[in-house]
Amino acid sequence: MGVPAKHMFVTGGVVSSLGKGITAASLALLLKQRGYKVFLQKLDPYLNVDPGTMSPYQHGEVYVTDDGAETDLDLGHYERFAGVTCTRQSNYTTGRIYSTVIQRERKGGYLGGTVQVVPHITDEIKKAVLTCADSGADIIITEIGGTAGDIESSPFLEALRQLRVELGPENAVFVHLTLLPYLSASGELKTKPAQRSAGIMRSIGIIPDVLICRTEVSMEEEHFRKLSLFCSVPRAAVIEEKDVKNSIYEVPIELAKQGLDSLILRKFNLPENKLDLSQWNAMVARAINPDSGEVKIAVVGKYMALRDAYKSIFEALSHGAIDQGLELKIECIEAEDLQSRDPEEFLGSVDGILVPGGFGYRGLDGKIEAVRYAREKDVPFLGICLGMQCAVIETARNVAGLNEADSLEFHPETPHPVISLMDEQKSVVNMGGTMRLGAYPCVLEVDSKACAAYGVTDVSERHRHRFELNNEYREILEKAGLRLTGLSPDGTLVEVVERPENRWFTAVQFHPEFKSRPLRPHPLFNAFISASFQGKQK
Ligand code: GLN
Repeated sequence: MGVPAKHMFVTGGVVSSLGKGITAASLALLLKQRGYKVFLQKLDPYLNVDPGTMSPYQHGEVYVTDDGAETDLDLGHYERFAGVTCTRQSNYTTGRIYSTVIQRERKGGYLGGTVQVVPHITDEIKKAVLTCADSGADIIITEIGGTAGDIESSPFLEALRQLRVELGPENAVFVHLTLLPYLSASGELKTKPAQRSAGIMRSIGIIPDVLICRTEVSMEEEHFRKLSLFCSVPRAAVIEEKDVKNSIYEVPIELAKQGLDSLILRKFNLPENKLDLSQWNAMVARAINPDSGEVKIAVVGKYMALRDAYKSIFEALSHGAIDQGLELKIECIEAEDLQSRDPEEFLGSVDGILVPGGFGYRGLDGKIEAVRYAREKDVPFLGICLGMQCAVIETARNVAGLNEADSLEFHPETPHPVISLMDEQKSVVNMGGTMRLGAYPCVLEVDSKACAAYGVTDVSERHRHRFELNNEYREILEKAGLRLTGLSPDGTLVEVVERPENRWFTAVQFHPEFKSRPLRPHPLFNAFISASFQGKQK
């Protein structure tokens, strides 16, 4: 048997949205760059079994893993920062834990017993954490959603408290992320809320090993000392995490400067090894000083008010721009605005147009308008999932003359269902976790733009959809100038369409944004950014 895995638990205090995900992901990168194999996991305290049934307004983007789990967007940070591949094991919700326990109870798994939060729910949580060791990781980082003191997160914290006792303090470390509010009127940085949140943790039996303080301004020595004293955390384990100016990818560099990774390794009794951040530093330097020009991309969607709804899309665009030394300007355009006003007003000055994935009818015609604009004005276009379906509907309506062409999702009675329900979806009744999900292979035409971007014909990409291009319309669409350049290996599903008449017009049924990394930008995003910038040069 190998050495047992070490566990790090990342909790949050004072407020939500402190950036626990980015902090956990940054720590994972640092530990990985010191030679350790890291696995990341998030425990979410809500009752949905997964976030797949929530509106993006509630929860932000639903991140999809290779193995087809619909998960929290923090997993995107994990994969982007630490270059790890997350799995179903990487995200558990209260709903998922409870439904496992309740199903077991119904099957008689606890016959004769009373099923309780402690120990049955807490045992199930511990199991979810401990089975991460199956990944073969040296270090497992578990982030706990919510804020210390929330009613909902208490079973998770209780389970982790028990785990630390069982595993021993050298195998289980608690990192608590907290907030130091800055009062600009008096010019003061306050430590009281952070003291209170560490106090809440203490009251449930957890003394954090490390306190990470989110702050707008630099901390003074007195803040470090005060927090150390009141929170029972050694001075050296009070870490400042100040807002970064330019790029979230600066966070690991700032944390490394304070020796956070060495501190954790010492707590684990693990050799410190050398930290190699050379590639990461070079990428951040390029991100901070783009010296090759500017590129402006319009993203036309329906949840534009909440940037988290398109997190991976924005990140993937930025990866392409960073790679090419370009400054990226994103114009967030509400699709509905294109329905009532001249698209020129919104799209006239952009270098590229992206229509992302989505569900529901609202804004659909605006997205189709955006595709029409891109096609007619020859503006580089990238369509993703619903964005590809919009490109198909646009060609059917405006080029092939099928005025009423539509998707069955929006118009069950349409005479021309150019987008129809996949066969495997026809018998599906439940909404949760039943779409076509996760990684599927796709074969590209050799002389396509997509193949030129990837440099190979066989690719694998992640999916999350129920509808597909209706094969009965393949010929009509091809005659109207839409080339079907990517198919499932058996040829039955259209995964990529292009317009060869345009400079760069590619739309995909899958979600390439989930696989883009700052150190390995996604080929399609890279090619789209490049075509957009080149068009602008003309
Ligand atoms: N609503 C469409 C479908 O289910 C597209 C989904 C998406 O864009 N993720 O097929």
